[in-house]
Amino acid sequence: MAQCPICRRAEAVAAYKPFCSKRCADVDLQRWFTGGYAIPAEEAHDDEKDRGIE
Ligand SMILES: [Zn+2]
Repeated sequence: MAQCPICRRAEAVAAYKPFCSKRCADVDLQRWFTGGYAIPAEEAHDDEKDRGIE
């Protein structure tokens, strides 16, 4: 079994794979929104162009 990538202690459970709990899953999700990972802003930009918004 893989360890939880957030707390690196508990083993991951199927319900929150690859995390050990909802709390650790939420922590990972927050990293996405706080700039820990690249944000796909370009996609939204392209979508705007497709709709012809000036
Ligand atoms: Zn965890």
